[in-house]
Amino acid sequence: MEQTPHLAILPTQGMGHLIPLAEFAKRLLLTHNFSVTFIIPTDPGPLPAAQKSFLDSLPTRINYLLLPPVNLDDLPDDIRAETRISLTVVRSLPSLRDALKSLVSSFRVVALVVDLFGTDAFDVAAEFNVSPYMFYPSTAMALSLFLYLPKLDESVSCEYRDLPEPVRIPGCIPVHGKDLLDPVQDRKNDAYKWLLHHAKRYGLAEGIMVNSFKELEGGAIKSLQEEEPGKPPVYPIGPLVRMGGADDGSESLRWLDDQPRGSVLFVSFGSGGTLSYDQLNELALGLEMSDQRFLWVIRSPNDKAANASYFSVNSQNDPFAFLPNGFLDRTKGFGLVVPSWAPQDQILSRSSTGGFLTHCGWNSTLESVVNGVPLIAWPLHAEQKMNAVMLTEDLKVALRPKAGENGIIGRAEIAKAVKGLIEGEEGKQIRNRMRGLKDAAAKMLGEDGDSTKSLAELAQKWKNKIIN
Ligand code: UDP
Repeated sequence: MEQTPHLAILPTQGMGHLIPLAEFAKRLLLTHNFSVTFIIPTDPGPLPAAQKSFLDSLPTRINYLLLPPVNLDDLPDDIRAETRISLTVVRSLPSLRDALKSLVSSFRVVALVVDLFGTDAFDVAAEFNVSPYMFYPSTAMALSLFLYLPKLDESVSCEYRDLPEPVRIPGCIPVHGKDLLDPVQDRKNDAYKWLLHHAKRYGLAEGIMVNSFKELEGGAIKSLQEEEPGKPPVYPIGPLVRMGGADDGSESLRWLDDQPRGSVLFVSFGSGGTLSYDQLNELALGLEMSDQRFLWVIRSPNDKAANASYFSVNSQNDPFAFLPNGFLDRTKGFGLVVPSWAPQDQILSRSSTGGFLTHCGWNSTLESVVNGVPLIAWPLHAEQKMNAVMLTEDLKVALRPKAGENGIIGRAEIAKAVKGLIEGEEGKQIRNRMRGLKDAAAKMLGEDGDSTKSLAELAQKWKNKIIN
């Protein structure tokens, strides 16, 4: 049997989960000589191309295997992501059992690491005497909320958004119920029940790794590390982000290299975020009105009904067809629009990138932090509104344009934020604070950094399992 310590990792769907877990795996491999197998539950669709090429590009001692697709035919079309993801894991448990059985027969599997919706896999780990661990790919604030949720659920009877006072998540800035993560907005929905189910099972983990660090979330981390019965030890090991990927020679990078230093606003809403048709148009006109350079990763709008009367079926797949008339011609030279996907880690590290209009996904936020790029916060789903509150009100490294009464953020408001960030006095202060965080992040991951030490402590704990 192979004697190097081996980690099994069960990521739930989405690049936002896979990317930081892969970084975690790479660090264990490079600095602590582990080997790793990703065991990936799949739903009936084909594995998205971006995910497949990402997995194929991992170092050789990081393997992956795809579990057989589960049947989700019985689920309604409007099922929420959290429910779908949780059920995909639950229905994959028999094949996970087979996979883990074969893995423990060839490797010294020291732990099974799951991410936020994978706690049902802990039972299978227990069958093979493999230690259950959790990698939390989001904020310490969201983790603190998860651990607090069972108590909150018992003490509050209304919807959290109807509470007159903000919710006091241990160690965090007070957050209004309406800004808490999406699946807690409707307590009758199955998504909330799943969340609570997982939250109650977090205590079964022998440890929780969180992709954050002290300077970013000091209060939340301190509170997470206070010992309490039933609370696993929490290891802040962030910021783990994809860095210095290969230059893929894409048009966006070439274009960026020709722009002046700090002049370009990068605009992107994560791996799947979309806007309504009206909002997309307002954003286009706002960018144009700001007179600043921009690089925009654009997707077709999400309100198909609004599009149907305007566009043929074919053009629905072409996001450019939804832009205002003449927009591409008018912004040629100072704006570049690319469809669907761009090499974000590369873009954020380019010196011409002066700001990032982001949906505040945690990976995007951390990638901005490690590159010192200031933000415009435009949260869409999941825990992004909580992240936006933290970034604007607590850390003060982002501007947040406000929506009007119709729920749309207007062009003038957008233009003001963009100009303010790239050219304004407030932008300068935000940039300086972001540079401070960049330095702190580099320290955390340096030889004597806290995150490096936390990871070493974990690695040693896992290695001891082989010795004992
Ligand atoms: N990403 C990218 N190119 C894109 C969109 C996203 O490389 O065009 C990467 C981004 O760098 C980040 C991840 O996908 O690492 C998105 O994760 P995040 O947590 O920000 O948001 P999510 O996609 O989970 O909403």
